[in-house]
Amino acid sequence: MDATHLDTFIDALIDDLTPAPVPEDEADRRLCHLLDSPRRIVDEPALLAVLAAAVTARNVFDHVIAQAVAAAERAGIPARRHLRTGADLLTSIGVAPGAAYRAARVGRAAEALPALTAQQRLGGVGIEFADAVGKGVSHIESRVALSDDERAEVVTTLMIQATPSGVDKKARGIAIEKVKTQSVDDTAVPVAENTDLNDMSVVPTGDGRLSATLDLDVLTGEELLAALDPLCRPIPLPDGSPDPRPVGRRRADAFGQILRTYLSSSGRPMSGGVLPHVTLIRPAEHGVDSLGFGGPVSTATAELIACDSTLTSVLVDHSGAPLDVGRAERLFTPAIRKGLAVRDGGCAHPGCGRPVSWCDAHHIIPWEHGGPTSLDNGVLLCRLHHTAIHHGGWQVYIGPDRHPWFIPPHDPTGPEPAHLRSHARRTMTDLPTAA
Ligand SMILES: [Zn+2]
Ligand SMILES: [Zn+2]
Repeated sequence: MDATHLDTFIDALIDDLTPAPVPEDEADRRLCHLLDSPRRIVDEPALLAVLAAAVTARNVFDHVIAQAVAAAERAGIPARRHLRTGADLLTSIGVAPGAAYRAARVGRAAEALPALTAQQRLGGVGIEFADAVGKGVSHIESRVALSDDERAEVVTTLMIQATPSGVDKKARGIAIEKVKTQSVDDTAVPVAENTDLNDMSVVPTGDGRLSATLDLDVLTGEELLAALDPLCRPIPLPDGSPDPRPVGRRRADAFGQILRTYLSSSGRPMSGGVLPHVTLIRPAEHGVDSLGFGGPVSTATAELIACDSTLTSVLVDHSGAPLDVGRAERLFTPAIRKGLAVRDGGCAHPGCGRPVSWCDAHHIIPWEHGGPTSLDNGVLLCRLHHTAIHHGGWQVYIGPDRHPWFIPPHDPTGPEPAHLRSHARRTMTDLPTAA
């Protein structure tokens, strides 16, 4: 079948599968169009058959895409079009980057994995599963050499797993087993210590977040754990109840703290002649605030970033011109920071007290709303509690005692909860009027 036949087939298939517009009261008849059948499809076996057929068709088409893109790479087509890889070729015709890279990866791996390819041809294996098998095999082969027979055996074992993550887990198990049984070469670097196997992926997710995975040698892993450990400790809530953050959340918060500490140090490598910082692009008038790498952010987050300008060194208008009006006044001077450090002794949020070096200096009345950069308009907050102010409904003000006081999130129509003393004042009376 050449491409023309395929086009005709796809046209016919789409016509068959696309429901024609039907009146509202007959909406439940739409499914009839999915099968070439005049009767209403409401019974379970028929619906399941439609689903199974569609999944098989999807698997076959994904296989066709993977094979076609691998063939295009072998023929040198991406290079002729000034593209780097087959994945770029796919994105140029509208495939999302993640799916494009996966298709190219699965296509390239196909040749070495005939048993898997045979199943894909039949539509019995989804592309996510095929990708997991391919990755599993290369995970093992990066650690031990496999003969063709051994590789076929590995593929068979991986293919009986139920899910892509099951495949991944099994592959790691097989790799560990095979390494153990391999004849020991004294000069070889143990797998655990081999930095050549290190890998980090950073993938933007559909909702604008960033997902990362790490595969580290034992020493780098040790350094990661040593760096995270002291930063992961639970912080009790102001009322003394335990930190509600699960360990994964605390680890991620700790990792953020490591990044901020690193970014605020001066001994790090330059990028284009400047120290790389978080860049917030704020349109001067109307428009959406956005980050240099990450794209649009909410006003609350933009205000958090702009609140302490040690977090961002570049504020620009929509045309990219720096907005440096009054910048010097916006920054808390070292002298004011020192004063804040003496008064707050670290994060001022009740029950926190994280060290001064971890803290942002928060403008209580935002600078752009006329709030001065002064001791009486500043408060030291760790990132967790700075976020609680900008995002979480907490409020802070300077009391008559000239210390920060906090108001927990509450329904504005209901009674106001008791105001809480700053961390540094926790042993004093809780009457805001008492000095
Ligand atoms: Zn702030
Ligand atoms: Zn804090």
